[in-house]
Amino acid sequence: MLISDILRLDKTGIPVKVEGWVRSKRDSKETVFLSINDGTCIEGIQVVFEKGKMNSAEDLLKQVHTGCAVTVTGNLTASPGGRQHIEVQGSSLVIEGTADPESYPLQKKRHSLEFLREIAHLRSRTNTIQAVMRVRNELSMAIHTFFQERGFYYIHTPVITGVDAEGAGAMFQVTTLDMSNPLRDEAGEIDYRGDFFGQKAYLSVTGQLEAEVYALAMKNVYTFGPTFRAENSNTSRHLAEFWMVEPEMAFCDINGNMDVAEAFLKYTFERVLSRCHEDMAFFDQFIQKGILSAMEQVVHKEFTRMSYTEAIHHLKKAGGTFSYDAEWGLDLQSEHEKYLTEQIVQGPVIVTDYPKDIKAFYMKQNADGETVRAMDVLVPRLGEIIGGSEREERIDVLGARMKELGLRQEDYWWYMDLRRYGSVRHSGFGLGFERLIQYVTGMQNIRDVIPFPRCVKTVGF
Ligand code: ATP
Ligand code: MN
Repeated sequence: MLISDILRLDKTGIPVKVEGWVRSKRDSKETVFLSINDGTCIEGIQVVFEKGKMNSAEDLLKQVHTGCAVTVTGNLTASPGGRQHIEVQGSSLVIEGTADPESYPLQKKRHSLEFLREIAHLRSRTNTIQAVMRVRNELSMAIHTFFQERGFYYIHTPVITGVDAEGAGAMFQVTTLDMSNPLRDEAGEIDYRGDFFGQKAYLSVTGQLEAEVYALAMKNVYTFGPTFRAENSNTSRHLAEFWMVEPEMAFCDINGNMDVAEAFLKYTFERVLSRCHEDMAFFDQFIQKGILSAMEQVVHKEFTRMSYTEAIHHLKKAGGTFSYDAEWGLDLQSEHEKYLTEQIVQGPVIVTDYPKDIKAFYMKQNADGETVRAMDVLVPRLGEIIGGSEREERIDVLGARMKELGLRQEDYWWYMDLRRYGSVRHSGFGLGFERLIQYVTGMQNIRDVIPFPRCVKTVGF
């Protein structure tokens, strides 16, 4: 039985079988207490062995240490101890796998998250990482449920792409060429006709452009998959491989887009609050004080919406408190995003209508000729969590913008076709899944909310 199921039983006096890993062992003269965890809940279960009552128990119990895998059978009883309401009176014990106490790196004391990152193959056995992964699991399901209940189709966009989704971020190249001796053309340049795809190929930085193909045919779709950016920055909010949720909706303008983004975020928050209460209480106590009530408040308050121009106005009023000045035309720095969410709004804020020059070519231009219908959702502690926009559906306007930016329409011929045949207003956004987990759990570093983080100089174990 799973330990989470055992702890939910409201009967005692029944036989149970516990399978898990020993977190700690406490030895007294007549009894041995084992705390066993199987990753299904924070608490784990306490097993009590009375030394005299088991056959050859003492020798066996001596070999049990933190980290061992064990199978225990026994009787579920009310616990006289303070911490737990039930425990198991152990009657048999099998040591499935031993763990040498001299070398097993996880001992009962608290380890730093930095240290745990160095043992990614064992940090999965800690309370913090397990709580994160349970919340991550719940959020994944919440994402699917939200969209599925609203008639969105889950579309799998490709991981390998030949398209440069201009501006989204630096790309990783995919090649089977012999890097020490690639084929070269007359000019000495690498000849990609000899490469696997016959052209340059990359790992995808976004599934948006392909999602548009399906939105402009099936109305509402979403992608949810891994995304790759060669971010050469060492921040606590950027990974080289992260998961992104990207809905795309036809017949939807920027206001509809914001409504969906807000409802979507609130749905995922509520779902975690109602289904991961124990884990959230853990984060509240050990990771980010007050996060439980903060999240509850967010669910019940309307998100503030303001234009980029208004945001700049607020930031300028704040004066010289920033290391980068806020100036109309420049992108918001994360310190600006924090200031807006933490000082001005005290909650999430949706900033709209950014200058076109700091946003991607496909965003719909406003009549002012200077701004585009972009919408970023910013949250306290993190800054940007969602980036989205209404897309430019007018072929002439899109074409002109691409020309200004030096993009070749031939390279995007299929994207132009979507505007040539049955074009209609449409919108979508991208949510960084790990940023969502960070926001909900209060975890400070994005490397601690994904099972195996990939970032600059870090791949593998
Ligand atoms: P930022 O300015 O924070 O680097 P961005 O503007 O480059 O983000 P978008 O291209 O708008 O990001 O991507 C959509 C969302 O994907 C972002 O709002 C963010 O939540 C997430 N995201 C972007 N880059 C990363 C990354 N390197 N690691 C994790 N999440 C990311
Ligand atoms: Mn963005």
